[in-house]
Amino acid sequence: MSTSYDVIVIGGGNAALCAALSAREQGASVLVLERAPEAARGGNSAYTGGGFRMVHHGVETVRSVVPDLSEGEIANTDFGEYTAEQYLDDLGRVTQYYCDPDLAETVVRRSTETVQWLHGRGVRFVPRFGRYAFKHEGKFKFFGGTVVEAAGGGRGLVQAEYQAAEKHGVEIRYGAQAIALLRGREGLEGVRIRAHGVEEDLRASAVVLASGGFEANREWRTRYLGPGWDMAKVRGTRYNTGDGIRMALDVGAQAYGQWSGCHSVSWERYAPDFGDLERPITLSRNGYPFSIMVNAEGRRFVDEGADFRNYTYAKYGRAVLEQPGSYAWHVFDSQVEHLLHEEYRSKGTTKAQANTLEELVARMEDVHPGRFLETVREFNAAVKREVAFNPNIKDGKCTTGLAINKSNWASPIEKAPFSAYAVTCGITFTFGGLKIDTATRVLDIADAPLPGLYAAGELVGGLFYFNYPGSSGLMAGSVFGRIAGREAAAHARGGQSMAA
Ligand SMILES: Cc1cc2nc3c(=O)[nH]c(=O)nc-3n(C[C@H](O)[C@H](O)[C@H](O)COP(=O)(O)OP(=O)(O)OC[C@H]3O[C@@H](n4cnc5c(N)ncnc54)[C@H](O)[C@@H]3O)c2cc1C
Repeated sequence: MSTSYDVIVIGGGNAALCAALSAREQGASVLVLERAPEAARGGNSAYTGGGFRMVHHGVETVRSVVPDLSEGEIANTDFGEYTAEQYLDDLGRVTQYYCDPDLAETVVRRSTETVQWLHGRGVRFVPRFGRYAFKHEGKFKFFGGTVVEAAGGGRGLVQAEYQAAEKHGVEIRYGAQAIALLRGREGLEGVRIRAHGVEEDLRASAVVLASGGFEANREWRTRYLGPGWDMAKVRGTRYNTGDGIRMALDVGAQAYGQWSGCHSVSWERYAPDFGDLERPITLSRNGYPFSIMVNAEGRRFVDEGADFRNYTYAKYGRAVLEQPGSYAWHVFDSQVEHLLHEEYRSKGTTKAQANTLEELVARMEDVHPGRFLETVREFNAAVKREVAFNPNIKDGKCTTGLAINKSNWASPIEKAPFSAYAVTCGITFTFGGLKIDTATRVLDIADAPLPGLYAAGELVGGLFYFNYPGSSGLMAGSVFGRIAGREAAAHARGGQSMAA
């Protein structure tokens, strides 16, 4: 086994593998260091639904990455269109316009070609019919900006990426934790690792950091996200503890982005502390736009229908965490229950069901019964009944006159049987991290590049603040991973940056 490479990539998820593949394409010798054992490889990327948010212009773009789209699927589907302007608007709007405009522009403008690049490397894509399109008047209509996902979800994606990496001669070491960056007089010179209890120094001309955020680090969560975050459940891997961020800060990198912010969702209340690769998304509870969400006091606390789920789910985990006891219930009636995805019916779901609201709240046990019944009564009375309910569009079926109104899909909770699902906060990934430029060079406090150091994926700060448009994480990781690999290879050869 060699101890010297052109490029070392730290991490074994989507961003890392894109970087490794792209560096290898440039002829560099590449080593991937994956801290996890082989059976748990792939980081959070392996836990995903595999969704990619890319610019598209309907069926023609979709067909460029899903060539086996059938005539029937084409005839029965309205893919809509998602322009670069819409994507940029979404990134700006949901991040309250904090999102770094240069990074955003790079992700958006390179999104489609990067998905096509992945397709060319053996990743199969399929349309996201399951979750992002409802059938209406005989036709599937997509909503919320994402139309494709990797076949086999995150595991399928990661599997295809590892296969491509192995085929193209990328070396991979599992169970190898990077613990320090080795910096010489002229820049990065290598990485210190610990593998199976033994420390070793590896040499490289360039290093790509792609080792995720700090969501699995209980202590950092409490320190940076705030009190209570130690209690959040981690939705994905246990290995993302902020190592890459710490190592880069140690050699002078600049902290960037929203260190107090993260992506977090409604998650099964009694889920284990970390994600389970065998059932990566069955613990999600994403049907809340059709529910009312109530806390222990029986009160609503968010506008459940403020927007499509894709634009609110990533910030409502925090709202749940902030409730008394850090739990809530999603409450539905039989008029909307059929819209819930299979995760609500999966093993390990905490559910109460009853034919009356009084019985329902009694079964929920830890919700104030009187106040809950009043909340439902007030809610039902405030619903604009004359507006038609339509899950495919922001239907404007709202409530009026409540302290917290519901803006869309406000269907009254009145038809038995009633059901309620218990949730807590599940953290997905952290938003704070390192500052990079559009060539993915890691910048120091004076915005000067640290020679030979590149970064991609979750540990890049500055893209997401407060919230996140669903399926942008894999997309951003792929775009910057691909650039990072190419740039690191060019640096290793002593060549010029190829940044546009
Ligand atoms: C349940 C779930 C569902 C999701 N669904 C989607 C979705 O459908 N679409 C989407 O865009 N995003 C989704 N996300 C978010 C997405 O997972 C991330 O945005 C993305 O995967 C991050 O990729 P990454 O390569 O930066 O990090 P990861 O995939 O987490 O990879 C980090 C890697 O670094 C390794 N590592 C950590 N420390 C070290 C070290 N010291 N040395 C060596 N290796 C180290 C880890 O083992 C891991 O392999 C989801 C996340 C979760 C948890």
